[in-house]
Amino acid sequence: MHELSIIHQVGAYIISTHSEAELQQIEAFEMHLGQLSNIHPDLLQNAYLAYQETHPIFNKILLKTTLIPTEIYCNQCHQTTQVEHYKFQCKFCLTPSQNIVKGNELTIHKIIFKDLL
Ligand SMILES: [Zn+2]
Repeated sequence: MHELSIIHQVGAYIISTHSEAELQQIEAFEMHLGQLSNIHPDLLQNAYLAYQETHPIFNKILLKTTLIPTEIYCNQCHQTTQVEHYKFQCKFCLTPSQNIVKGNELTIHKIIFKDLL
C-alpha cells in the first residue's frame, strides 16, 4: 500500500526532527495532499492507524489532511485556472497548459503543538 510507505516516511521524519519531549507535546500534524499526488485521505488515515499501532508515540497525535486542487498557469494570458475533470486548459483564453503550479503537493504543512498555557 502506497499510503503506508508515505506514513512511514512522514513518521520517521517527525521522529528524527523532534526530541522525545517535543513529540509528547505534538497535538496534530497537517498534511497537504495535492489532487495529482493520488493520495486518498481515507486511505492515508487508515495507514496512519496501522502506523500508530507499531509506533505508540503517535497514539495521541492526530493526522489532519487538506486536499489541494490542481491549478495551472497560462503562459498566454498569465492567469491561473483550477483544473476540473483533468481538463488542462486556461479558462480565460482556452489555451491548453501543462504548467502545473499546484496539485503535486505531498507535504507536511504544519505540526501543531499542544497549548501549553
Ligand atoms: Zn490563458
